[in-house]
Amino acid sequence: MKDRNLSRRRFLSSAAKGAVAAPFIPLVNIASAQDLPQVSESDPTAVALQYKHDATQTAAPTERTCANCLLYQGDADAEWGPCQLFPGKAVAAAGWCTAWAAQP
Ligand code: SF4
Repeated sequence: MKDRNLSRRRFLSSAAKGAVAAPFIPLVNIASAQDLPQVSESDPTAVALQYKHDATQTAAPTERTCANCLLYQGDADAEWGPCQLFPGKAVAAAGWCTAWAAQP
């Protein structure tokens, strides 16, 4: 009986901690996406992909920017957002690189 009460207490404690933490998880993710450091144009991956913050300074067709790239994960109205090729960093919505891919 003593073991059963201990298990029950542990379960209730874990459930309570999860219930308290769960509402904050989405907020943490949103905040971290907005606070990502901006990728540098001199970043080795950026150099390899010829990434520029301003697509008009590249040979890219004018309609191609990070904002309409398949790999861009930023909000539609954000100036910067995550890109799958630059984990932990943000690219400019107005930027471009040679890995640009059309959205379906
Ligand atoms: Fe921009 Fe797409 Fe290149 Fe990422 S892969 S830097 S979103 S053009």
